[in-house]
Amino acid sequence: MKADNVILFDMDGTLCDWFGKIIKDLNTIKGPDEPEITEIPKGNIKKYLRTRLDVLMQRIDWWVDLEPLPLGMDLWNIAGELGFERMILTQGPRRNPEAWTGKKIWVDKFLGIDTKVTITRDKSIVDGAILIDDWPLYVLPWLQEHPSRSVILPQGPHNTTFKHKRSITYTGNNRDDVITLIKSHKKE
Ligand SMILES: [Mg+2]
Repeated sequence: MKADNVILFDMDGTLCDWFGKIIKDLNTIKGPDEPEITEIPKGNIKKYLRTRLDVLMQRIDWWVDLEPLPLGMDLWNIAGELGFERMILTQGPRRNPEAWTGKKIWVDKFLGIDTKVTITRDKSIVDGAILIDDWPLYVLPWLQEHPSRSVILPQGPHNTTFKHKRSITYTGNNRDDVITLIKSHKKE
């Protein structure tokens, strides 16, 4: 497998709806006097919230039950149709080894057991023609490490202001732009 012909896919927030499920579940277990949770704060998370996240995410099935996201799945199909190899490139949480198993089972269930999977603590060391990832904090170091490569971000609430000359955001309405970018990385 040559990196030139590989498109790398993030999972949480790209192919599967991590944000939707974690927010729904945090609201299910919140106390009656606590405000509705609408987003996970960036940066340092308060200890009680960190603990709740860990408790929820320590079940393998929590990961297996994530819903597929339409924008990410659309990109998955486009990459396949354009003849690229597709590989999962996902970060494995430090505190939740169960997630590493759950992620693999999710891939088997929704993408097929033969799908190539890399679960890592550092995405930047893995090369591919394009990275598809929703999270700016992973996208930036990857772009720095791979100066001839590009990134596609499936649009989400946490990346609306992100801009980089080698990235585009996929909104669902700019399919042609995405196809043009992917084709520009095709090596015959
Ligand atoms: Mg993500």
